[in-house]
Amino acid sequence: MKIVRYSIGSKTEYGILDGEQIQVIDGKPYPEIKKLNQFHKLSEVKLLAPCEPSKVVAIGLNYYSHCKETNNPVPTEPMMFYKPSSSVIGPEEKIQNPGCDRLDWESEFGVVIKAQAKKVSEKDALKYVLGYTCFNDVTARDWQAKDSQWSRAKGSDTFSPIGPCIETDIDPGNALMEGYHNGELKQKVNTNDLVFGVPALVSYITKFITLYPGDVIATGTPAGIGPMKSGDTFEIKIEGVGTLRNTVA
Ligand code: MG
Repeated sequence: MKIVRYSIGSKTEYGILDGEQIQVIDGKPYPEIKKLNQFHKLSEVKLLAPCEPSKVVAIGLNYYSHCKETNNPVPTEPMMFYKPSSSVIGPEEKIQNPGCDRLDWESEFGVVIKAQAKKVSEKDALKYVLGYTCFNDVTARDWQAKDSQWSRAKGSDTFSPIGPCIETDIDPGNALMEGYHNGELKQKVNTNDLVFGVPALVSYITKFITLYPGDVIATGTPAGIGPMKSGDTFEIKIEGVGTLRNTVA
């Protein structure tokens, strides 16, 4: 099932996307989905970020291929940082460069939470997950190197494109993800290469931090990061989810 969030006229709604048709749901897609007998055509709506996170918890250096490529040791526990809700944008929205010298893409497999989660075991972790989406962990690489923490390098406005939908029925341990810069394939990985998979991340994060419905975990980027210039397009494609496309203003 593909959950979308969109605007139509002056309204913002959630719905279930089936082909070119959206069935409206009542309120938010948690704690359970209540379908209404109302429909829109996909072409009539403007897709928005498919969730409204209170925060994004992002993970660094979480693919074996990326550790190898960067000559970094494989981490023994997840390395986390935050991206604020103010950095979130939706499909086709413009990424704004706030004045850095190098603005990078990072294709990431995004996890959307459906129930408040604290001290969750790995065994129970997926019960707290609504589904999966494409996430671009946009990064000001020069500021990441220069600053002692990453608030502006990772958290500037527009640095968290999310979408186009939340797919509820894929296997988070076996999903193919690709990243395309101006149409050219730059990143390709299967989530079976993750150092810490989704259950381990939900369990680890919630030891310390309460996750709320709509929150997002960005699980880390694989090998193949690189810079974007003004006018460039970056697309993240996850098998079963779809394609998130954004252009740099
Ligand atoms: Mg990242």
